[in-house]
Amino acid sequence: MNRILCVLTSGAMLLGFALLLPGESRAQRTQPPSADGKLNVIAFGAHPDDCDQRAGGTAAKYAALGHRVRFVSVTNGDAGHQTEGGGALAARRRAEAQEAGRRIGIEYVVLDNHDGELLPTLKPREEIIRQIRQWNADLVLAPRPNDYHPDHRYTGMLVQDAAYMVVVPNIAPDTPALRKNPVFMYFQDGFQKPQPFSPDVAVSIDDVIEKKMDMLDAHVSQMYEWLPWVAGGLDKVPKDSAERRRWLRETRAGQPTAAVRAILAKWYGAEKGNAVRHAEAFEVCEYGTRPDEAMLRTLFPFLPKASSD
Ligand SMILES: [Zn+2]
Repeated sequence: MNRILCVLTSGAMLLGFALLLPGESRAQRTQPPSADGKLNVIAFGAHPDDCDQRAGGTAAKYAALGHRVRFVSVTNGDAGHQTEGGGALAARRRAEAQEAGRRIGIEYVVLDNHDGELLPTLKPREEIIRQIRQWNADLVLAPRPNDYHPDHRYTGMLVQDAAYMVVVPNIAPDTPALRKNPVFMYFQDGFQKPQPFSPDVAVSIDDVIEKKMDMLDAHVSQMYEWLPWVAGGLDKVPKDSAERRRWLRETRAGQPTAAVRAILAKWYGAEKGNAVRHAEAFEVCEYGTRPDEAMLRTLFPFLPKASSD
């Protein structure tokens, strides 16, 4: 077997191309944008507000350019609250997510899986496959599968599990398979094991930071109730709505890490990169289409043009 493979490989090398293994997707590169010149971007989070925190600014920038963005919460958020729960909380969270999407001009879908109980099983995997196919996605964003929260972790795993199946017609056959595998990228996180987040792209969101905060401000039950309560700081949340919006800006806008600062300098140049105050960063997943620099520039059209020297 090895000898045959060896002969085949050297034959292929002589002909000037590399053998592709089954499932290898380099041959099926996406060619965004689609016919109307617009990108289709879809992001998955475990809870209504997860995508917003990791990619809300980037989504606002896509939307401002007329590209299509859909955020998907894989659970309905019906558990994470200190005094509310069940269907009433799920309905509240869905309304907050839709308001958040409306504020920046994107779609927001909340799937009906229970919060705190997500597992990497076939049902949510197929839901995610259908979402990616229906959106005809050029770019898929998701958490890495090494997060502290099981729902986040399994959302990362489920999207990885979908990353090849989206092109397999016999899987979830009620929704036509994609002919081109999208690019999959991870949101930024701070987890160090088994390896830290390693950004490939960082987007300055200084021009849309207020939009991102407006989006987060729509998640009242999270930003002003559950998250401060679980962190032991509910008493620090201002009661007045304008005051608490200011508090949100002060506590949630975030600063680039050293690794993100370095990748900002790569894409924006040292001077502009160092001046960025707020950024969102993304790491290329090994699955799906592997983008080269030109494709990353197509997928992130707001990055500065490459210098000619
Ligand atoms: Zn979450």
